[in-house]
Amino acid sequence: MSGTHFGLIEAGGTKFVLGIADADGAILQRHRIPTLDAHETMSAACDWFRSHDLPFAGFGIAAFGPLDLDKASPNWGSITRTPKPGWSGANLVQPFADAFGCPVAIDTDVNGAALAEARWGGGRGKRLCVYLTIGTGVGGGAVVDGRILHGLSHPEMGHMRLPRHPDDTGFAGACPFHGACLEGLASGPAILARWGKSLSELTSGGTEQQMIAWYLAQAVCNLQAILEPDCIIFGGGVMATPGLLGLVQSEADILGAGYFVGKASAIVMAPGFGEDAGLMGAFALAGSA
Ligand code: ZN
Repeated sequence: MSGTHFGLIEAGGTKFVLGIADADGAILQRHRIPTLDAHETMSAACDWFRSHDLPFAGFGIAAFGPLDLDKASPNWGSITRTPKPGWSGANLVQPFADAFGCPVAIDTDVNGAALAEARWGGGRGKRLCVYLTIGTGVGGGAVVDGRILHGLSHPEMGHMRLPRHPDDTGFAGACPFHGACLEGLASGPAILARWGKSLSELTSGGTEQQMIAWYLAQAVCNLQAILEPDCIIFGGGVMATPGLLGLVQSEADILGAGYFVGKASAIVMAPGFGEDAGLMGAFALAGSA
């Protein structure tokens, strides 16, 4: 019997969001489980899907990374070198493939979000859609002519190197690998480490928010220099800071100095999906399985 439903997994570092969608992408059920160790978490997820007794056509997993996405690798679908205890080497695909016997697709959460945005959100009709999340971590993915961009692996846009803001002194950066990369300078933990508060708790339009906007604007200019995207979508908890997106747009237009075809004020935008961004990413991936 061919399946009629899709199993969706948004695999995050603190929680797994599970969902069941019909073939049109309507999300019929949602469930959250805490991210415990790999075995416990995957068993709980499989149990929840099994309890619905549905004929699944496929599963889509939009996951934190880094991931092994080389289909020729014996470790395809596994988390690779994460500082998260108990997750390095954990295979996210196999438990679902074994339990349900249907195709399972996996990619990073940001690649999933980029694909969903390109198909049904702010990137619809655009040629090159970049999705960046600025939260506990910073990550980015790109969809070009409807296809997710991969090289040796998924992009690691959160770890691009940036020039220092002249007033950002005395802070080494929060990335355990590079110190002061984009994630090390502009993630939620980097903001908290510098100022002891989240960005939305700091003065609206003040020097701290302007500094973070300046870093994000550098990232926009770098992406424009490399890809000339017609759409850069910013999601994640830090971007919920009121007014931040506007600061990024105006800073990026200044830094770009009118050189790029895309005006930052026109191509930098908020996501089309709110709460369901991760699940819609998983659905977009499931459809391609
Ligand atoms: Zn880094």
